[in-house]
Amino acid sequence: MTSLYREVKKISEASVYLHIPFCRKKCGCCAFFSVPYSSCDAGGYIRRMAEDISMAADLTVPTIYIGGGDPGMLSADDLSLLLDALSPYITGSSETTIEMNPEHLTDSSLDCIISHGVDRISFGIQSFDPNIRRILGREGNIDRLKESLLKAAAHKELQLNADFITSVPGTEPDDTLRDIDSLLEICTPEHISLYDLALEDNTPLSRRYRETSLKDHLTPAWKYLKQLGYRHYELSNFSLEGREGQHNLRYWRLENYIGIGCSAVSGLVFPDHILRFTGIRDVQGFIMEGMHGAEAETVTSRDALKDLIMVSLRTEFGIPMQRIRSIYGDETADAVEQCSEKWESAGMMQHHALLEQGMLIMDTVVLDFFSTVEELDLDGTVRPLDSFF
Ligand code: SF4
Repeated sequence: MTSLYREVKKISEASVYLHIPFCRKKCGCCAFFSVPYSSCDAGGYIRRMAEDISMAADLTVPTIYIGGGDPGMLSADDLSLLLDALSPYITGSSETTIEMNPEHLTDSSLDCIISHGVDRISFGIQSFDPNIRRILGREGNIDRLKESLLKAAAHKELQLNADFITSVPGTEPDDTLRDIDSLLEICTPEHISLYDLALEDNTPLSRRYRETSLKDHLTPAWKYLKQLGYRHYELSNFSLEGREGQHNLRYWRLENYIGIGCSAVSGLVFPDHILRFTGIRDVQGFIMEGMHGAEAETVTSRDALKDLIMVSLRTEFGIPMQRIRSIYGDETADAVEQCSEKWESAGMMQHHALLEQGMLIMDTVVLDFFSTVEELDLDGTVRPLDSFF
């Protein structure tokens, strides 16, 4: 049977993602695998993670991302244990990010994060507005939240990201602009993410309120952030110059990554195929088996091409036509090129990248590219992927 442990030995470089699935309670806007902290053996989970991290011992690890859930739920001892296990990799990485619900950041967790060399905190703010937070199921103490942001911002060695959720039912586009203003009164984060409920599939709230107008909610915030000097480099992500999230950029370029934890996904790119592994979705099961229990799946060259098109359409860099031509040959590249030209003529794309008006109908555009890919005869056309990745 294909095993993540065995396959990792065949690669030399991979980013590492660690999924901490613990939250105080489940929020209505959340599609991630998460469980109430109080019901779990968090210590056992972190000890198991520490064992699995050693899988990367012989690898170059360019970026690390600790996400969730809420890593801020971890006790001081568990956070310290996790970061101790990661220390050798943090030293060699160019970016180590930890997600935090700002209300859960304490002086000791901030000290622990900084002393271990973590250089980026991604704060899940969602909104400063108590009414919006109530709808999202994220009630809490706004003063505490602001205080945490201020404390973190005082550490200039840290880069900060702030996550907001937009298009919440019953809210106005100006609410997002007010959230941005409230943030900038406290600090100037290097990175801001605007996740749109209507774009984020698969959450109970988004399914219920899908008709919410993307255009009305998104474009004013996009315009405002650009006026403030943030570059819109990916559908949901904005950064100051040179401060793009390096870890996510690696996902969008289909580079190797190892996911450790419940539901965590790994993607390993080999010369003629891509392997995907998904961690077991059960905390106790993960404690028993770790990533030995991850489910393996081989991604076909057709699906790999679809993935590449879908993720690259999210970015300002657009579809990497040269990559596609070298990997898949002229016939495939010409078909993708023709599809791209059609959307360029419709005013939705430019230089193989979606313009902002195109991003608003992204599902339609992506499905059209997928139809094009479905019609292609891809057998025998794939050249070694490592000539590219
Ligand atoms: S939104 Fe964040 S805090 Fe809420 S359940 Fe999901 S991961 Fe946990």
